[in-house]
Amino acid sequence: MKRISLLGATGSIGTQTLDVIRKHPQHFSLESMSVGRNIDLALQQVHEFAPALLSVQSKEDYDKLIHNVPQETKVVYGTEGLVEVATTPDSDILVNAVLGSVGLSPTLAAIQAGKTIAIANKETLVTAGHIVTDAASRHNVSLIPVDSEHSAIFQALNGENINEVDRLILTASGGSFRDRSRNELKGVTVSEALNHPNWSMGAKITIDSATMMNKGLEVIEAHWLFNIPYEKIDVVLHKESIIHSMVEYIDGSVIAQLGTPDMRVPIQYALTYPERFDSISNERLHLWEIGSLHFKKLDMDRFRCMRFAYEAGKAGGTMPTVLNAANEVAVACFLEGRISFLEIEHVIEKALEEHTVINQPTLEEIIKVDAETRAFIHSTIK
Ligand code: NDP
Ligand code: MG
Repeated sequence: MKRISLLGATGSIGTQTLDVIRKHPQHFSLESMSVGRNIDLALQQVHEFAPALLSVQSKEDYDKLIHNVPQETKVVYGTEGLVEVATTPDSDILVNAVLGSVGLSPTLAAIQAGKTIAIANKETLVTAGHIVTDAASRHNVSLIPVDSEHSAIFQALNGENINEVDRLILTASGGSFRDRSRNELKGVTVSEALNHPNWSMGAKITIDSATMMNKGLEVIEAHWLFNIPYEKIDVVLHKESIIHSMVEYIDGSVIAQLGTPDMRVPIQYALTYPERFDSISNERLHLWEIGSLHFKKLDMDRFRCMRFAYEAGKAGGTMPTVLNAANEVAVACFLEGRISFLEIEHVIEKALEEHTVINQPTLEEIIKVDAETRAFIHSTIK
């Protein structure tokens, strides 16, 4: 029996993690969970899974909830609440499916507590990759990828020596606007951007897919998870999302992982690793039904966020922190209808240009740069 702590239980990855737990009740139990503001769903989940600990985002919701949850469930809130969930003494594995760099402090706390982490929360690796991976190796903690591309690479690597790898090849669906030119991106609406052709995901990552920032963040995520230089990470457009990513070895062999686009598969693998359990989905990959797979070279002028991400990653230090914080705020403002789609990349570019990189930043410096970047974007947009 693996006892699970889950950050972001009410989200797209969080609810799919609960699907996996529901499917294998003899193997998994939910020990603790956190939510943001979706209290109605949180209550349903608490009644179904009876975790010992629930964290909510605000004090206000804490006050509302405290008398509504079963006595066995302790309620906490705020960042300390996230940390308490992440370090639950009785849990074996943390699934970090919270959104954004708010996931950083609970991740570091879980590492210090020696917890294995199934990591979906890519913003944490982007904003402070060197700190997270250094801490994980010092505490001998495994970071198991949940993101489908990184799960694919993890499976294709299968413990092989990273020195025998020539390139990692991440696939990208291209998002909601993959067939549009830059000119055709002017004036696109929020609901058009939220209409992803292959994957059903949370709002922020769906917009990130449309700007291609998601793939940029994933390049940085791959750099840290697999300890490989940016020069050895490529991205190829693959509109069917059947090949989830590939590893090219120095002898020219390319090993790919394929499957239908269903996040519950990599989530389950992160939880069962190194074993495999029965599939949660009845759908199997029938290549003869798909017929053909397509691949296209990525145009960095069309998808400018991709270029920003490579440049920020290679610059290192606090540049990825700026990239991530600027993107988080810009996407939130786009979703609120305060800026246009193309302005997302415009304000991110400004933030990157304005920033003077700090090399080997401390955690405090990262937190400071994150906050300053958020303030900068807000003032630019106002
Ligand atoms: P969602 O927006 O669907 O869910 C985010 C979760 O985090 C919700 O439970 C939300 O709570 C909670 N949350 C958000 N902000 C805060 C906060 N400030 N404090 C506490 N809790 C908060 O996101 P996704 O599930 O789509 O994505 C989660 C992570 O997984 C992201 O890092 C994303 O990049 C990554 N990922 C997602 C994939 C997907 O298919 N969705 C695929 C690969 C990676 P509430 O809703 O209650 O407010
Ligand atoms: Mg992905």
